[in-house]
Amino acid sequence: MGTLSVDVVIVGAGPTGLFAAYYAGFRGLSTAVVDSLPEAGGQVTAMYPEKMIYDVGGFPAVRGRDLIKGLVEQAAPWNPTYLLGRKAEALAQAESGLEVTLDGGDVVRTGAVLITAGIGEFTPRPLPAGDGWLGRGMVHFVPSLAAHADQDVIVVGGGDSAFDWVLALHPIAASVTLVHRRAKFRAADSIVREVRDLGVRMITDAEVTELRGNGELESVLIEAKDSAPVELPAQTVVAALGFTADLGPIENWGLEIDHRAINVDSRMATARERVYAAGDVAAYPGKVKLIATGFGEAATAINNIAVALDPDAHLFPGHSSNVE
Ligand SMILES: Cc1cc2nc3c(=O)[nH]c(=O)nc-3n(C[C@H](O)[C@H](O)[C@H](O)COP(=O)(O)OP(=O)(O)OC[C@H]3O[C@@H](n4cnc5c(N)ncnc54)[C@H](O)[C@@H]3O)c2cc1C
Repeated sequence: MGTLSVDVVIVGAGPTGLFAAYYAGFRGLSTAVVDSLPEAGGQVTAMYPEKMIYDVGGFPAVRGRDLIKGLVEQAAPWNPTYLLGRKAEALAQAESGLEVTLDGGDVVRTGAVLITAGIGEFTPRPLPAGDGWLGRGMVHFVPSLAAHADQDVIVVGGGDSAFDWVLALHPIAASVTLVHRRAKFRAADSIVREVRDLGVRMITDAEVTELRGNGELESVLIEAKDSAPVELPAQTVVAALGFTADLGPIENWGLEIDHRAINVDSRMATARERVYAAGDVAAYPGKVKLIATGFGEAATAINNIAVALDPDAHLFPGHSSNVE
């Protein structure tokens, strides 16, 4: 990568980080946007790209992936440097400014850091029988529904996201079967009813105990409590068993961290000079974790960073509508 030097390093390419990249560009600041995931979009891209979102200002309804596409387009004129598939590991004071070290050892020099790390790195809970099948038929998230057209799909899990994937895949897949190891579901009653009304096959008190196939997935073995094992054809298993989230290395960056969130003041400044936080990861009394909140916090953080980097700069950015 060589040495990269920018005005602001944004840690996390979720909706908050992407909007911050736009805003920094608008304020004339160069950015590097780091994310350990291979694609931008944070929780939206990873967990619900196909769902409609109804509470983002200006969009009566917007599909997750379309919101992220719009955010990336909005930031594009300012050429943020995306460092995707890279984890921000360490933060150090440098002679002038700060240095962020990425996994692999590359260092980005910067005047300020904006942490938009959301809930941190999220790791899907594994399906024991799926060991070795990730990318060969087993997935944890469904980035593209179209890839599963006409397939036999097994969704494993009993929470909202398992039911969401069933609903999204049902119109397009050849068959969808839900397998859950208990009789009762964690998902909301309304979504369970919706799936039941569609006539989707649900196998409860049962576990997927084996994925079978020669190279690619061909079938799964399902063992239920009170009946003989069944083998069902399957080209995809969606293991929707929830995930664990962890702030990981950011916990060692000398910030005030409480319940996996970073305390900030009304400028979105953390306890460490020139380090700011916004979005789900930022905490203050009365905080509401929503995309809309993250957008406002990103604007506040970047405008305050602009002043921290140049004391002659105005806090108020002017109106974007006045800029050609
Ligand atoms: C199923 C579901 C439905 C939702 N529906 C809605 C809704 O309808 N409306 C709404 O407003 N909100 C909704 N939310 C919540 C919304 O998605 C979050 O509030 C939003 O994604 C927060 O954005 P963010 O950019 O702050 O963080 P995130 O989206 O969590 O992005 C943070 C990014 O930081 C990265 N990261 C973390 N640590 C590091 C590191 N050390 N190095 C590099 N990268 C790192 C992560 O990989 C991640 O990509 C929903 C959430 C879920 C799970």
